[in-house]
Amino acid sequence: MTTKKNSDMGNSYKSHLVAYACDDTGSIGRRHEETHPTYRNEYQRDRDRIIHSAAFRRLEYKTQVFVNHEGDLFRTRLTHSLEVAQIARSVARELRVHEDLTEAIALAHDLGHTPFGHAGQTALNNCMKELGGFEHNIQSLRVIDKLEQKYADFDGLNLTFETREGVLKHCAIHNAKNLGDVGQRFLNKTQASLEAQLTDYSDEIAYNNHDIDDGIRYGLISIDDLLKIELFRVQYDIVNKKYPGLDDKKLIHEVIRRMINVMVVDLIDTSRENISNADLKSVDDVRNCDIKLMAFSNEMNEKKLELKQFLRKNLYQHYRVHRMTKKAADVIEALFNAFMDDLKILPTEALQHCHTLKDKHGDKGTARGISDYIAGMTDRYAIVEYERIFNPRQLSFVNLHP
Ligand code: MG
Repeated sequence: MTTKKNSDMGNSYKSHLVAYACDDTGSIGRRHEETHPTYRNEYQRDRDRIIHSAAFRRLEYKTQVFVNHEGDLFRTRLTHSLEVAQIARSVARELRVHEDLTEAIALAHDLGHTPFGHAGQTALNNCMKELGGFEHNIQSLRVIDKLEQKYADFDGLNLTFETREGVLKHCAIHNAKNLGDVGQRFLNKTQASLEAQLTDYSDEIAYNNHDIDDGIRYGLISIDDLLKIELFRVQYDIVNKKYPGLDDKKLIHEVIRRMINVMVVDLIDTSRENISNADLKSVDDVRNCDIKLMAFSNEMNEKKLELKQFLRKNLYQHYRVHRMTKKAADVIEALFNAFMDDLKILPTEALQHCHTLKDKHGDKGTARGISDYIAGMTDRYAIVEYERIFNPRQLSFVNLHP
């Protein structure tokens, strides 16, 4: 039996790609040079490193919208990331750009999220306001560039530029200046690769739709409410006509899967037209475009806006969600302040990390170390850590050890 090595497989996959896709053999490279993988392409190696990281495993116990322990059926950051990867790969395959790269970006895009979803991120950003701030996209980059500690030759996962570029979806200009190569496009006002752009849109398609599903399951929104939203209503009517009397569980799934499909098809069709008008010859042409070539149609953008506004009002600002997120924000703030007041209550490894950063960056370094420790926590770990620090009933010896 003859075995195909990386170069053979790379060539056959390369012939499938359009000229303006990211081709792994032409990657801008890794921060630390490495030999090429034997049987994988560079982006497969990135994906595999992400899957084997501790930060990826922790996504299982981090919230998307609902707190992790609320129920087993709700999305977590892990299932969300898998759904994003599924959508992104479908779009990439159809557009003949690099599917493995989109998968790597999708699986890594939320690695820097704090516990308790957006409530946690807002709370941590408030705590860090005078100390450099906290942005989850930048934190995802910190995780893959620095915080994962498992390789002998380097800190972080040493991923390719193209994966790192995709993970850093947005960032403030004042932060972009400190982010080296991947920060440049925010300063130059250039674009990311199509793989990065399409993964960002896939993220949006995934969460808009699964939040509807979770919101209904949680009893916060009803089908009657959703019928006011065009994107939902049109697909609901199609399903209802085809399957009259279908039970609600199947009905909702049939509607949501059609909504995902309609959005994906719109994204592919609109982007394909933009791409054909742009006369692209290389990925550099994509990066130098004035606009993002991946896009929804104007019509879809309007419908999406209607859906987003609905979700904001009826789901994200629902009093039951707000109660939960308020408590979650209190936990993050209390932990941050407790660690800042007395570093000696930090576990050894986190304390060491803070000392290292303090030596380099002074008090801001200490705060960054604490924020790294808190951002890395899962929802349940943050709750347990809060209990260990603030609950006087946990004074017993057994609780001295995490
Ligand atoms: Mg996401």
